[in-house]
Amino acid sequence: MKQLIADRALLPEGWRNNVLLEWDDKGILTRVSPDAAEIALAPRAVGPVLPGIANLHSHAFQRAMAGLTEYRSDLNDNFWSWRTLMYKFAGKLSPVDLKAIAVQLYIEMLQAGYTSVCEFHYLHHGSDGKPYANPVENMVCLIEAAQEVGIGLTLLPVMYQYSGFGAQAPHAGQACFINSPEWIMSALQILQASHPQHAGLRYGVAPHSLRAVSPQSLQELLTQLRQWDAQAPVHIHIAEQNKEVEDCVAALGARPVAWLLDNVEVDRHWCLVHATQMTTPETEKLARSGAVAGICPTTEANLGDGIFNGVAYAAAQGAWGIGSDSHVSTSVSEELRLYEYSQRLLHRQRNMLVGSESASAGGYMYRQALHGGATASGRQVAGLAVGQRADLLALDPQHADLGGKHGEQLLDSFVFCNHGQTPVRDVMVGGNWVIRDHKHSRQEQSALSYARTMKRLLD
Ligand SMILES: [Zn+2]
Repeated sequence: MKQLIADRALLPEGWRNNVLLEWDDKGILTRVSPDAAEIALAPRAVGPVLPGIANLHSHAFQRAMAGLTEYRSDLNDNFWSWRTLMYKFAGKLSPVDLKAIAVQLYIEMLQAGYTSVCEFHYLHHGSDGKPYANPVENMVCLIEAAQEVGIGLTLLPVMYQYSGFGAQAPHAGQACFINSPEWIMSALQILQASHPQHAGLRYGVAPHSLRAVSPQSLQELLTQLRQWDAQAPVHIHIAEQNKEVEDCVAALGARPVAWLLDNVEVDRHWCLVHATQMTTPETEKLARSGAVAGICPTTEANLGDGIFNGVAYAAAQGAWGIGSDSHVSTSVSEELRLYEYSQRLLHRQRNMLVGSESASAGGYMYRQALHGGATASGRQVAGLAVGQRADLLALDPQHADLGGKHGEQLLDSFVFCNHGQTPVRDVMVGGNWVIRDHKHSRQEQSALSYARTMKRLLD
């Protein structure tokens, strides 16, 4: 039996002392006992233990674009001009490049405290739109990268058909994304045969956005998916930009979030990514649906998307989690900090994102991101409880930001302080230590491979 003792650990019921954790061969927790007596022989965590969070939105390849689009390319530089640059970059990537980038990214995520990632994957074919010999080759690269690095993965092949509302033909730059409901279902079957799902790997789907699929194909995909797996996660980009809202109203007669909630059975298996453009009635209706809002604060700031209606959503007890999306940052604490700060700047008050479970902004946000991320991932990663995966972080008790602090102060300090190296010292995924003393066993090899990939891509 594998065991760990934590002097202090954040459990679902709150902070507890002398917590004995045990897990089975699959990395699933079989015992979580606070105030445990028989602790002498178990290995001890170096510092306070937190459950690991699932990153609910990632486009792995975009990690390699970080820092390459921060110049004015257009008089009206915005999300759409960024997207043109992104398409050019995506067209250069081979499966080998994708894997090197994903390995680097997933190591960085683990070091920051993410123990799972949801890949919203749309780079399906070669740049000319020609399928690879194995049609799911790029997705296999992502699965191998996650396995080799040791991060949990929810893989969401993206359905992408059109360049805009009203079934507009795709642009040349979108050729490597284009597919159909049948293609997605066939891909899931190929993947399940070659890489069957397990506690660390889950499949779902991602209709890209209401502008890139039609109402009919969305319905077809959902019908086929539910026959295959009644609980598989469904993620969608929604209401990220004003233009998208205007085009949706013109084409479908309603704003994107309102249209989706009125026309599709949206429930807790759904994750609506961004939703930065919502009215308060839409916000409250989304909260009631049980779906998870996928908030990506650093990317939404980087792209000038807008600010999520967070205070109204928290008041309506909506579920949410965080994603690093384009990966300008892979820091858990930076996403949470920026989310709270966006609300402070908007409302000109402090500590806006709090709830009944904690009056501390860091405490509330960490728990929300944990539960929302777990729900969106469709995997058993909702914290330190029997039946959940042994995914956890041990914070460095010697870190200057943590010394002398207890309970919620630890979470507030983790989220809001930003001095020197991250306090995330050790990271365990599925019962295996993958980061020890801030280091991953493959990080040097990965850095070399990533540097070679970047040199080739930028030459
Ligand atoms: Zn995205």
